Amino acid sequence: MSERELLISGNWKMNHTHFEAIQFVQALSALLRATPLRAGRALSVHPAFTALRSVQTALESDGVPVALGAQNCHESEKGAFTGEVSAEMLKKLNVSYVIVGHSERRQHFGETDELVRAKADIVLRHAMTPIVCVGETLAEREAGEAKGKVGRQLEAVLSARPPAVVAGMVIAYEPIWAIGTGRTASSEDAQQMAAFIRATIGHVAGADAAEGARIQYGGSVTPDKAGELLRRRDVDGLLVGGASLDAESFHEIALAR
Ligand code: PEP
Repeated sequence: MSERELLISGNWKMNHTHFEAIQFVQALSALLRATPLRAGRALSVHPAFTALRSVQTALESDGVPVALGAQNCHESEKGAFTGEVSAEMLKKLNVSYVIVGHSERRQHFGETDELVRAKADIVLRHAMTPIVCVGETLAEREAGEAKGKVGRQLEAVLSARPPAVVAGMVIAYEPIWAIGTGRTASSEDAQQMAAFIRATIGHVAGADAAEGARIQYGGSVTPDKAGELLRRRDVDGLLVGGASLDAESFHEIALAR
């Protein structure tokens, strides 16, 4: 079990209207009042942009101990980018965490390592925490290239940053073959890749950065798999997609041990 604060994040993707999102927060709030999180754990939820304001209000008015997160942002401060949302806009909604470089964005929207770095830059500039997603495809894993791919993704986003900044970042290891497939990585695979990620952070940004940065696992996490993953030394939390859409299953994952 990691000694760092565990962060369990729910990535809702393109699900939940703002009405459904409010119902989710009310349900999660009641569950957390009945059975609170244990010390050393934190939660974040990442609604679609249209539900951020409603979720912010619901969390803050009820004092729900859950941080607000976003799923993406644009890499520029502002300007003629029709349909995009800026980091400043997110910060004004009290967003704490922003997912950058999710594999679905890399795959469907052509996000490159350079773009992911630029997004992490602007998130940090606005005093929010990027959750940087990295991970390999099944073909890359089978070809023995998982560490090479993830190492390159990490270097691109972490190099030439002050160690204290890297120490505050979150890296989500999400093997692409495990996302939305029902095929969770074994806790042994998750631990091995998390340890590799920590070692790479150490090479790129130094030991203090490696010690401080949190490494989540993501990919078909369910309540029955969460405890085993969270018990691994280098796994400091979970990034949960499908199973985070239901308040009860997200709460069960949050409590798993
Ligand atoms: C994700 O999209 O980050 C994810 C891990 O999804 P799922 O849990 O549904 O595999």
